[in-house]
Amino acid sequence: MIPLPSAAPGRTIFAHESPVAIIVFYCLAVISIAVFFYGWGRRLAKYRAGRSTGCRLLRPAPAGSSGTGPGTTGHGGCPVPEVVAGVNATPGTAGAVLALVTNRTVRRRSRAVGLAHLAVFWGFAGLLVATTIVAIDYDVYGHLVTGLLEGRQRSFFNGDFYLAFNAVFDAAGVAALGGTLYLLWRRARAEHFHPQLDYRRAEQPDAGYSRSAFVAGDWLFIGVLVALLFTGFVVQGLRIDESHFPPYERWTWMGWLFARALTGVGIGAEAATTVHSYLWWLHASMALGFVAYLPFSKAMHIVTSGADLLVTDPSTTRCLPPPPAAEGRAGYEVLTDFTRKELLDLDACTKCGRCHAVCPARAAGAALSPRDLILDLRQWAERQRGIRPVLDWETRPDATGPAATGPGVSLAGDVVKEHTLWACTTCMACVEACPVGIEHVPTIVQLRRSLVDQGRMEPRLQTALQNLAQQGNSFGKSARMRARWTKALDFSIPDARKEHVDLLWFVGDHASFDERLQELSRTLARVLHRSGVSFGLLYDEERNSGNDVRRVGEEGLFEMLVEHNLAAFTKSDFSEIFTTDPHSFNTLRNEYPGYGLEKRVRHYTQVLADLLEEGAIPVRPLGRRVTYHDPCYLGRYNRVVQAPRRVLRSLGCETVEMPRNKDNTFCCGAGGGRIWMDDSHLTERPSEMRIKEAAELGVDTFVVSCPKDYAMYSDAVKTTGHADHMTVRDIVQLVDEASTAPGALGVASGVAVEA
Ligand code: SF4
Ligand code: SF4
Repeated sequence: MIPLPSAAPGRTIFAHESPVAIIVFYCLAVISIAVFFYGWGRRLAKYRAGRSTGCRLLRPAPAGSSGTGPGTTGHGGCPVPEVVAGVNATPGTAGAVLALVTNRTVRRRSRAVGLAHLAVFWGFAGLLVATTIVAIDYDVYGHLVTGLLEGRQRSFFNGDFYLAFNAVFDAAGVAALGGTLYLLWRRARAEHFHPQLDYRRAEQPDAGYSRSAFVAGDWLFIGVLVALLFTGFVVQGLRIDESHFPPYERWTWMGWLFARALTGVGIGAEAATTVHSYLWWLHASMALGFVAYLPFSKAMHIVTSGADLLVTDPSTTRCLPPPPAAEGRAGYEVLTDFTRKELLDLDACTKCGRCHAVCPARAAGAALSPRDLILDLRQWAERQRGIRPVLDWETRPDATGPAATGPGVSLAGDVVKEHTLWACTTCMACVEACPVGIEHVPTIVQLRRSLVDQGRMEPRLQTALQNLAQQGNSFGKSARMRARWTKALDFSIPDARKEHVDLLWFVGDHASFDERLQELSRTLARVLHRSGVSFGLLYDEERNSGNDVRRVGEEGLFEMLVEHNLAAFTKSDFSEIFTTDPHSFNTLRNEYPGYGLEKRVRHYTQVLADLLEEGAIPVRPLGRRVTYHDPCYLGRYNRVVQAPRRVLRSLGCETVEMPRNKDNTFCCGAGGGRIWMDDSHLTERPSEMRIKEAAELGVDTFVVSCPKDYAMYSDAVKTTGHADHMTVRDIVQLVDEASTAPGALGVASGVAVEA
């Protein structure tokens, strides 16, 4: 014990403890810290077993980036050349740190939870600082420095410093307690009806497993936090009570209130002295136990989530990483195929369920929950490394799912089921929603690559891939048929292989071959022709861009398609590319540059917005109330959200937003190759849910900017019974209608051009 100068504000550390008790405390502290480092050592060894892709924090920050800036080199060979601004855009290091310290990603989709979490985060950070200061004062300054050097132990934990210390760190404790109690209350209230906190499996809601350990682990974690804070304040109160309320302790304002409450319930100074020591030991034991329990429980997210957020790189979803390239493996099969970041992802998951709630596949009744995928992979990875967490396991009566082990058990197919992996539309909603920066989609694609390599896919998908390999399109039609739709035009579209054009139109398979959609292509051609803009086609040289082929997991075929298209680009003379298909837009813009494409790539809504604002397309205001559906690959992946709205504004339309819009859009269900797979088993198609969402708005026009969306939603308005009061229109149909109306005028709205 270090004696205090008499009457000075301050307190004596270990005031009630004998030398033996103090030694016991330090022994327990050493054991707890040893377990802590052992646990983290096991986890770090697990991460180090993964592939290194370089530390993102050490990469150069994107030019002009301050947290929501442009993407940079996401990973080997994947430059992201243009600005992709938005909340979850690839942040620079400073932006990542800012997101962490402000809990921005936690607050983004739930303000109340985010603010409570922020209070807990900073409250406990403050209490950690307070404990460290006390330890430095007592152990380092008191015993090592002044004790050894001067032969007399001194303390700086007194006087004004002591008063300020107590005032500030009581506030930290109150913030932490308030935030924790809110989260506790929310969990108790919502566990049984909130989809986010419902642990039932998407593919197997009721049987064959038990996740009660997850629930117990959640309650243990939050319960320990509340108990730590509460006992801490009671210990303070008892100390003030037993020392007869010295006036300077008013600075320990929360402890003072607890002391008053204690005397209010009849605990006077004498009783406080007796209880104080017991409660102090309870509090200290819980704190030391918590330190040891941290790396083996949900509490590990205190470290892993922050670390994951610092190294997250959403450009890996826009521009997928290559296969692991180890021992000729096409996709992920063993733990060492995963990158270190992906292994960290598994430990960073807090089970918050935000991804689970937004997943269109889960909502449609498919066997996929991105949360469960991450938790299954975590359990599998821990088994591989012999790590046994506390109350963080799913149990199964048989050795299936994440518990599957032994020879012949494949990661893709047995540990994570085939139908789970094929259910994903790669919509990126999970990545966008995840507050800790987990990137689910690249992992899903790596597992799909393994399935494709084993030939484990449904026949329809196999046929589509065969068509793509043989004909360069999923329809299995001859390349000569690709531009057949142009025959019905009363003008010819220049061939970019034969003459210079400003804009090369990459039409895409559906807008070229699907007879229901060819009229949309002709409408766009007419609008552009009337505007006088110079544009042309690749004609029979165009092939499928490969975006969905890559997301299905057929990397070799993707590279073949890229090679062919790049050769066609090289033979042609054009200034920039535009495309009708948001999926093609994504790969041309974000992935082709890694293979050598150096042209600017735009979506047709961006071209139309500019032409309308320049007055090149004379229009007459339509005066309609419409709603607009953001395609995932346009709005969420590439943040092209303003261009379509600029078009609608130029047409004099009022856009009524659906609740889920822009980067929070809801998937149509066709992405990631799902358009080539059977969806008859779904309880409700995502496109039907979306039409119902739009129908709530009371608008009669559902505007799309993707040919596949046009087909999907045209079907969905019929199957949901909304066809008599809602029509699906491609945005170019509205432009055409407005520009062919009598008295159409050029409009220059002066709206800022989107990057
Ligand atoms: S990408 Fe979309 S469909 Fe796939 S898991 Fe994530 S939210 Fe679900
Ligand atoms: S993956 Fe992310 S969003 Fe999903 S449950 Fe885990 S932490 Fe939450």
